[in-house]
Amino acid sequence: MVLVFAESQKGNFKKTAFEAVTYGYKTAQALGTECVALALGSANNAADLGLYGASKVLHVADAALDQFDGQVYAKVIAEVSQQVGAKVIVLSHTSTGKAIHGRLAARLDAGSVAGVNSIPTVDGGFKVKKGVFSGKAIAEYAINSEVKILSVMGNSLQPAIVGSPAAIEAANVTVPASRVKVKSVSRIEGIVPLPEAELVVSAGRGMKGPENWGIVEDLANTLGATTACSRPVADVHWRPHHEHVGQTGIAIRPNLYIAIGISGAIQHLAGVNNSKTIVVINKDPEAPFFKAADYGVVGDLFEVVPQLTEAVKKFKA
Ligand code: FAD
Repeated sequence: MVLVFAESQKGNFKKTAFEAVTYGYKTAQALGTECVALALGSANNAADLGLYGASKVLHVADAALDQFDGQVYAKVIAEVSQQVGAKVIVLSHTSTGKAIHGRLAARLDAGSVAGVNSIPTVDGGFKVKKGVFSGKAIAEYAINSEVKILSVMGNSLQPAIVGSPAAIEAANVTVPASRVKVKSVSRIEGIVPLPEAELVVSAGRGMKGPENWGIVEDLANTLGATTACSRPVADVHWRPHHEHVGQTGIAIRPNLYIAIGISGAIQHLAGVNNSKTIVVINKDPEAPFFKAADYGVVGDLFEVVPQLTEAVKKFKA
């Protein structure tokens, strides 16, 4: 059986949860087995996971799980997977999934591959592919352990409706509240997290200073996009570190990545070159980013970006 951990936040499933269930369903089809979803804590509309291919949804409703704690989540997922005899466990390759993955693999003595972007093949052994060396090559991994854990890159497949709402079953796991050691001190609301974002507006040192970011935010708000930045910008605290994309930051694969005043260094490209469409705005026609761009605008960002925002507003009106 394939068990998919479906991530939720404040009771609502994330888009990555539907992607993970779709991935789990296709993996289960390849293995000739069923796909079961697992929801932890508050979970609205959990039956809808059946639409994406889960034959049922196991639910640990304990309120202690409304606060994410990687250790506790790994323990609970491990217990449920042992109870149901899961052979493949699918996670999302998000910050939540990354905090669980290694712990779960250690608990279950499982072979694991993080950040996969293709469905496993099973003829001649269980094999799965992922991008390596900053997306420059594809490696294929064979996993021989009895239990296998995979985490799925965000936006690497579209959630597909293949079934109908599933039955929800309570899973028999207890979570002592005292085990939850993590406390949430603040939460940023209303922003699609970068790994899940389909539209990203990103800016770099060409912005000259943090006081100029208003034009980037205007464009992002107009498009409904998430903001990102290059590393030096985060290093000097013009922008928060959670916006830093690239080799040492977050790797993303949105449908649209708009790069403003970013040169396109190889370490930056490493995190964004899987974007489906890349638009570059830079005043230097020799900027390396233009080689990776689908569309490029050579010009002063302080003139181009407000004009682009106005054009989008007119288009939407
Ligand atoms: P710059 O290279 O200074 O480029 C600014 C750009 O803005 C220029 O192309 C310029 O032409 C343009 N510009 C200036 N003014 C205007 C204007 N008015 N209008 C239009 N365009 C304008 N970087 C990352 O981003 N992510 C990483 O994860 C990362 N990891 C790294 C890991 C290592 C080990 C190392 C050594 C480096 C890493 N870097 C990373 C840094 C990377 O090498 C570059 O230094 C960095 O990406 C450059 O940032 P930038 O493009 O914002 O700045």
